[in-house]
Amino acid sequence: MRIIVLNSGSNGNAVYVESAETGTGVLLDCGLSRRQIETRLKIHGRFPSSIRGIFITHEHGDHIRGLPGMSKAYKIPAHMTEQTFRQYWRKDMLKGYRFMGMQESVTIHDVTVQSFPKSHDAADPVFFRVSVGEKSFLYVTDLGVHNEHLTSLIPTADGLLLESNYDPDMLRNGPYPEHLKERIDSEFGHLSNPLARHLLETHAGAKLKLLILGHLSEHNNTPELVAAGIDALLKKKTDLRPAVLVASRHGVSDVMQI
Ligand SMILES: [Zn+2]
Ligand SMILES: [Zn+2]
Repeated sequence: MRIIVLNSGSNGNAVYVESAETGTGVLLDCGLSRRQIETRLKIHGRFPSSIRGIFITHEHGDHIRGLPGMSKAYKIPAHMTEQTFRQYWRKDMLKGYRFMGMQESVTIHDVTVQSFPKSHDAADPVFFRVSVGEKSFLYVTDLGVHNEHLTSLIPTADGLLLESNYDPDMLRNGPYPEHLKERIDSEFGHLSNPLARHLLETHAGAKLKLLILGHLSEHNNTPELVAAGIDALLKKKTDLRPAVLVASRHGVSDVMQI
């Protein structure tokens, strides 16, 4: 399985995952414009024509705003929960959408995408597990608090993109109004750096080969802080030896393979 993070953050999220064997691709979230998706795929010699399905985690603009343009141009089926669709209803989005349950599998050729419920301030938000053969990749952002689905899946995953949204001190002392600080910090908000590390420390192990930290806040976090925290964790937890990437808010990643 190969993974390309096209972008990760509140300014737009999209992750391309493909089967290394058949080239079948899926897009997890579609929060970039069609043009940006095309441009960033092309850097790695990929084209939207290899995307056989788009999977949307929830209706927030940073996860869905590019979908109408992509659907229109390429007629790719878009999978999302019914409530996600209803919250983001648009006339020009009506073609090609398919409802997906909160816990359902969709298989396209040799790629299977499974949804699982998560806690976030959206209608029926989900996270995804993508499997190709024996390998699996978890895509988990916009997470107020973890649940048993996630903690039972982390030990089984070969790859994981986990939210590491904010540093609690930076959020507390930062520029956001109080109500926004409370929302981010709530059980329906985002995952902090220490909570992301705690999840990894408690549930991740030798099986994990690729760890991507994503959806970093622009104002309440820095890539350096996240990287330093993970370095410290890896020193302490010697069974955990994944390749580590802190995903960019502004550019496409390399092609990563698990
Ligand atoms: Zn988001
Ligand atoms: Zn969100």
